Amino acid sequence: MNAPEYTTIVGLEVHVQLKTASKLFCRCSTQFGAPPNTQVCPVCLGLPGSLPVLNAQAVQLAMRTGLALQCRIANFTKWDRKNYFYPDLPKGYQISQFDLPICAEGFLEIEIGSEATATRKKIRLVRAHLEEDAGKSLHDESATRDRKKSDTRIDLNRTGTPLLEIVSEPDIRSAEEAKSYLTELKLLLEYLDVSDCNMQEGSLRVDANVNVHIPNKDPNGKPIATPIVEVKNLNSFRAVERAIQYESARQYQLWQQNGLSIGQAPKQTRGWDDQDGITTLQREKEESADYRYFPDPDLVPVLIEESEIDHVLQSLCELPQTKRQRFVSEYQIKPYDAEVIVSQGLAIATYFESLIKLGSTPKRAAAWMQQDVLRTLRDQDIAIDQFAVTPCKLAGLLVAIESGKLDTTRGREVFNQLVQNPQIEVEAAIDSLGIVQVDNQAMEQLCAELLAANPDVVEKVKSGNAKAIGSLVGQAKKKNPNADPRVVQELCLTIINAS
Ligand SMILES: [Zn+2]
Repeated sequence: MNAPEYTTIVGLEVHVQLKTASKLFCRCSTQFGAPPNTQVCPVCLGLPGSLPVLNAQAVQLAMRTGLALQCRIANFTKWDRKNYFYPDLPKGYQISQFDLPICAEGFLEIEIGSEATATRKKIRLVRAHLEEDAGKSLHDESATRDRKKSDTRIDLNRTGTPLLEIVSEPDIRSAEEAKSYLTELKLLLEYLDVSDCNMQEGSLRVDANVNVHIPNKDPNGKPIATPIVEVKNLNSFRAVERAIQYESARQYQLWQQNGLSIGQAPKQTRGWDDQDGITTLQREKEESADYRYFPDPDLVPVLIEESEIDHVLQSLCELPQTKRQRFVSEYQIKPYDAEVIVSQGLAIATYFESLIKLGSTPKRAAAWMQQDVLRTLRDQDIAIDQFAVTPCKLAGLLVAIESGKLDTTRGREVFNQLVQNPQIEVEAAIDSLGIVQVDNQAMEQLCAELLAANPDVVEKVKSGNAKAIGSLVGQAKKKNPNADPRVVQELCLTIINAS
């Protein structure tokens, strides 16, 4: 195999909107979708004389996230002003954290490779810091398209909303790894209940720092690195993947033309054009010195006691990876099944565990979750908490199947009844389908009749082809829809062997 032409190097900055009712330094609501500029006050508008007051809930959520990401939580953290001019930033600065972020280091483990050859990889984190969001510029894109005079309006409702910016080391090596990292991070944030992670509403936005390493012709030389490009404001995982693929190919081509490596050209900020699938130059990147960071004189530093950190640590829920491992070891289900169930979110994982606690075998519960439950939720486009079939009902059904009272096919019919009729109980659904457990004597009689009517099958079985019995199951079901295929096969074989 030829050596690859280059290696893609990616570090991600993920901006997560924290789930607080009010903004980071004032009491304005963070509710999405209100009419423009109705959720603002002198503080978030930066009017003279107004003073910010820290929202303690945001600090709690940041600590919870940091601890789940194995970060070190600072005992002393402070606020800094990041100064820059932008129309959606009325104060002329953003309150952020410069040299003393609330969370430092840490890592997130991701799965890479496909199912059979999957391995786990640690993506290290540099830091996670708190900051306030800016407002939103609403560009009239139809004007740009039609080359009319363009019109831009500003909505400051989002100004001052708390964000946690999670910065990874450049440990990501491909678009697929980036997607895997983001998927696992989003799942973790949802388990922790720190953000709604709604990407359409901008609750989770990604900037990708991308460059490529090109093998050096000199075998002792270090690989050649291209200048780093930051692709801003990617608002879907698909956009992140495509932007990384596009940007690494573009940089390699550019290097082939101009031969410029890192340090020989300035760092660039580029935007992602989702429609055309390209990145476009926005500006040559500011260095942090250009922002003239300085401590915010209006805010006191935050002191966090060890006991407080301990308290948050104790209150963390079971994290997705721990849950996957426990499902495999405690319930003996396949790692793939555990992955599917846990990745659907905490509510699904809890529903699955309830089935087991209510008497279902883990294997059957896992199969029904993946096939019947998830499919129904998809078909009906609902969440598990809106699902008509409670864990109690489904467990009742699975136990009935387990005990041989009905087979899987009839079980599915009962399940459909439960889905369509939320009022009905399991026993009533079974009765309504006329499902009754067939007694053994009746089944023996039925099997004997079938064998008498099918001497060719009997011959085949006697000559060693036991599978031929399978052809009788359909006939048995026709005569009695409650006949359990397993029982029919077993009884027929017993009768033949005894004759
Ligand atoms: Zn406000």
